[in-house]
Amino acid sequence: MNFLITGAAGFLGSSLANHLAREGHQVRGLDDLSTGDPQALAPDVHFTRGDVNDRPKLWTLLQEVDVVYHLAARVSVPESVLYPRDYNAVNVGGTVALMEAMRDVGVRRVVLASSGAVYGDLGPEAQPLRESVTPNPRSPYAVSKLAAEFYVRTIGRLWGIETVSLRIFNAYGPGQHLPPSHPPVVPYYLRQALRGGTLVVHGDGNQTRDYVYVDDVVSAMVAAATAPNIDGLVINVGSGMETSVRDLVKCVLDVTGGKPEVIYNSQTSSGVSRMRADLTLAQDKLSYRPSIKLEDGLRLTLQRDPRFR
Ligand code: NAD
Repeated sequence: MNFLITGAAGFLGSSLANHLAREGHQVRGLDDLSTGDPQALAPDVHFTRGDVNDRPKLWTLLQEVDVVYHLAARVSVPESVLYPRDYNAVNVGGTVALMEAMRDVGVRRVVLASSGAVYGDLGPEAQPLRESVTPNPRSPYAVSKLAAEFYVRTIGRLWGIETVSLRIFNAYGPGQHLPPSHPPVVPYYLRQALRGGTLVVHGDGNQTRDYVYVDDVVSAMVAAATAPNIDGLVINVGSGMETSVRDLVKCVLDVTGGKPEVIYNSQTSSGVSRMRADLTLAQDKLSYRPSIKLEDGLRLTLQRDPRFR
């Protein structure tokens, strides 16, 4: 098959692109390299540097494409609080530009990388989170992802493009971007533990997340390209397991063998209190079975990511 992946040089995009290319598919990648790294891509992925809002470029790249994976986005929740206009322009505006271009060229299907963040803080009684609950987004990032879901589904229905939105929970694994401020918690803790730095836990550490290894996310994305009867759906992609940040710290210390100082900062917000994905729909529609436990995923990350050697 012919695929276009937006955000292809990013953490999830490059893993997906390399996987599809290994399977023998034709893969084109688009990325503006605002955070992505084209070196992460295998040589047989056809890479183009460009903005997802650039419709003429999209028209060219979309020729003969069967399925588009739309991953290009700004991805930091705290940054979105400071720059909501930028998040709206890329995550919402870029999605609308892509859908228009897909309509113009006549592409059959799009898979949107949405986020578990759209649920917001729905509390213990809503766990595990099902796709049918009403989302309560708490950040401009989460709003932008929910708006993107609606745009994809609505424009898709109007123009006969099949759409599916995958609500990915906390993905981690080799190649995850590690920015200097507000880094994602898994690579940040791994790096700190290996270097003997301090691990800062926001709040009391009892907040939970659903950490899912990148290979499991890729398996769901691959299935979403061809699965029947998923048009218009949103589908959770997580591990189905709930891990407190305290337990994540313990796991990181176990796999690294490090003994860093751990500081609990009660002055900072711990964010959403609980998150665990209900995977019934993913199992039913995508035959999705996450297979990598957190401890194994952390070990694989250490083995496969040269930054941790
Ligand atoms: P990432 O930052 O590594 O990848 C995003 C890529 O998009 C980057 O390579 C960046 O350069 C590119 N990009 C940004 N703005 C662009 C633009 N205007 N035009 C073209 N490219 C642009 O992040 P990731 O973790 O790989 O996330 C990929 C997608 O999955 C995002 O849409 C994100 O919202 C979603 N997602 C990720 C997670 C996670 O835990 N990693 C969870 C839920 C959803």
